[in-house]
Amino acid sequence: MTDLAALYHDLILDHHRSPRNSGRLADATHAGDASNPLCGDRTRLTLRIEGGTVLDARCEVQGCAICRASSSMLTEAVIGRDVGEASALAEQFLGMIQGMVGGADDGADQSRDAALGPLAAFGQVRHFPSRARCATLSWEVLQRTLAG
Ligand code: ZN
Repeated sequence: MTDLAALYHDLILDHHRSPRNSGRLADATHAGDASNPLCGDRTRLTLRIEGGTVLDARCEVQGCAICRASSSMLTEAVIGRDVGEASALAEQFLGMIQGMVGGADDGADQSRDAALGPLAAFGQVRHFPSRARCATLSWEVLQRTLAG
């Protein structure tokens, strides 16, 4: 494992063990859910959006380490962002995973990695294409929820 891969591995494990913003918002304005039958992951995302800004987010996940970590990092990434920024982030994240798994992306796009910050860790799933949906599940919910 390279140093960077080891760092990403630790980051994902940390969020898996101590998920941030876990649970449901009682005063949510937006909610969505999805499941990934291939792995058994289930996720429910609740958001409180006011004045075009994501004020709070919670994600309730039953699933594997990748799904839990990806959902935890999603909530950290979107709280405080405006809806347009959060949508753009979801599109970028989903594009990264889909491009890499499809072989169109070798994971060497450093400007994209800089924009995604710690979320670029999930680029590691390109080595495990069957786990891609675990990483994208909550982000698909986010994209759909913000669009709806
Ligand atoms: Zn999974």
